[in-house]
Amino acid sequence: GLVSTRLRSPVERIRFQGAEVSGVQLRDELLHADWYVSALPFERIGAVAPELGLDLSAFRHSPITTIHLWFDRPITDLPHAALLDRTIQWLFNKEGGRYVQLVVSASNTLVEMSRNEVIALALAELAGFLPEVRAATLEKAHVIKEIRATFVPVPGLEAQRPAAPTTFNNLFLAGDWTRSGWPATMEGAVRSGYLAAEALTAAAGHPRKFLLPDPR
Ligand SMILES: Cc1cc2nc3c(=O)[nH]c(=O)nc-3n(C[C@H](O)[C@H](O)[C@H](O)COP(=O)(O)OP(=O)(O)OC[C@H]3O[C@@H](n4cnc5c(N)ncnc54)[C@H](O)[C@@H]3O)c2cc1C
Repeated sequence: GLVSTRLRSPVERIRFQGAEVSGVQLRDELLHADWYVSALPFERIGAVAPELGLDLSAFRHSPITTIHLWFDRPITDLPHAALLDRTIQWLFNKEGGRYVQLVVSASNTLVEMSRNEVIALALAELAGFLPEVRAATLEKAHVIKEIRATFVPVPGLEAQRPAAPTTFNNLFLAGDWTRSGWPATMEGAVRSGYLAAEALTAAAGHPRKFLLPDPR
C-alpha cells in the first residue's frame, strides 16, 4: 500500500537544509519525503528538531493513574460510574462486575504513594459506593501510573501551543499539545492531525478542509 508503519524506529533527528526539512534520521537510516508531519510529544520535539526554536517552557505533564481490580465475585452491575468527591474518579466494568478499572486524572497524590497504599485507598473508596466490595476477596490488582499522561492547560499556555505550520516550508506539527483548540484529549490529537493536513495541502497548492465542525 501507500502507507507503511515502522515500529520501534524512533526518529533521532529531523535534518534541515535551508528553509526545508531534508530528511528524518532514524538510527541506521535517513528517510526522505516531499512533506513531513511531526506527531512527536512536546517533551521530544526540542531534542529532535531544536532548529524549530519552540519555547515550550510552560508545558508540564500531568499524571493519570489506572487501578485494575479483579474480585472473586461481581461487585457491581453498573457498566460505568463517576465517583464524586473521592480520589477515584471513574469506574469501568470490564468483565461481569468482577474486573473493574478505576481511573484518576491529575493523580499527583497517588504518584507519591506505594502500590499497596493505592490499592487500599481504592478499595476503601469503592466500598463506600459498592457495599459488595466488603464481602468480596481481591484476587489480583494492577496499578499503572502514567506520569506523562497529558499536558496541564495552565493559564497562558495557549500562546505557547504552536500551530501546524512551522518556519520550515515542508514541515508541519501535530499532536494534542499543538494548537488544536482542545485540551489534551484524543479528540485534540485528531483535530491537530486534521489541521496539519489542512496546512500541508494549502502549502502544496491544493487546499482541502478536513476539520469537522464541533457538534452544536
Ligand atoms: C492513562 C491515560 C488515559 C487517558 N484517557 C483519555 C480519555 O479517556 N479521553 C481522551 O480523550 N484522552 C485520554 N488520554 C489522553 C490521550 O491519550 C492523549 O491526549 C492522546 O493520546 C495524545 O495523542 P498524540 O498523538 O498527541 O500523542 P501520543 O499518543 O503520546 O503519541 C505520540 C507518539 O510519538 C511516539 N514517539 C515519541 N518519541 C518518538 C520518536 N523520537 N520517534 C518516533 N516516534 C516517537 C510515541 O511512541 C507515541 O506513540 C489519556 C491518556 C492516558 C495516558
